[in-house]
Formats: sequence, C-alpha cells, structure tokens
Amino acid sequence: MKKLNKHEGQNFTAAHLGQWEDLHEYVFQHPRFSKITPGKVFLKDPLNLTAMEISINKFPAGATMPFLHRHTEHEEVYIFVRGKGQFQVDNDVIDVKEGTVIRVSPDGARCWRNNSSEDLYCIVIQAKAGSLEGDTIADGKGVKQPIVWPE
Ligand code: ZN
Repeated sequence: MKKLNKHEGQNFTAAHLGQWEDLHEYVFQHPRFSKITPGKVFLKDPLNLTAMEISINKFPAGATMPFLHRHTEHEEVYIFVRGKGQFQVDNDVIDVKEGTVIRVSPDGARCWRNNSSEDLYCIVIQAKAGSLEGDTIADGKGVKQPIVWPE
C-alpha cells in the first residue's frame, strides 16, 4: 500500500497524495469489514485533524457503493471534482459532476454510483452536525508581519 509523503511543522501538517489518477494505489480497509477499497484515503490521522474527517476518493468507472449508510453524529459534504455519476439520499437521486457539492445530514441514507465510463473523484468532509459556532469569516484575523518568501 502506498504511503503518504508528509511534511510537518509546529503549526501544520502537509501531505502529498500524488496524482489523482493514481489514488487507487492507496488502499483502505474498514476496521469492521474485510473488504478492501482501493482509491480511498482518509486524512484525519495523517494530518492530525481534530475537528473533521476528510477523505479523498476515486470511484472507478462503473463502480457502485454496495450499501447505504447513515451517520450517528456527523454531517457529510461530498465535493465532486471530476467525472460524472449519481448520488442517492433517501428517495432522491442527484446527478453529480465536477462542481457538484452535496451536504447530507447524519440521518440521510446515502449511496453513490459511477454510471459513467470515466473515473469519478470526490472529496468527502465529515464533521459533527451542529458543532460549528460563530462567524466563520470573522474567525480569521490578520497577522501584522511582513510576508517573506525564500529566494
Ligand atoms: Zn459517511
């Protein structure tokens, strides 16, 4: 299995996943099932994330997620960045393509399929529903220090 190339500092962790086309070289094994899923990379542990989980996914042409799932506490956002397919939440089916973004509440029974002839790529973010407080724009604050780039 391919390993992430990481770079860490006091206040950051950077990972280099490589080319998106090569994502199938990463393999995910669910802790409760024996099934192995190529093309799925979870980032919480490698990036030391503390408030969200993010996965980077390559859904091969013709692939279908074989089960519906819900979450206990987490809402999910699916950000489709390349390819075409369909996403199902409860009784709704949404055509997805590059630029489609879908939020799903914890209770939504969800599934996807790639019914196209090209690979479908998406980023999935999950975070505890209702946990975001305050103004997300006002949370940012300027740093009074000159910007210095290496020569
Ligand atoms: Zn999920």
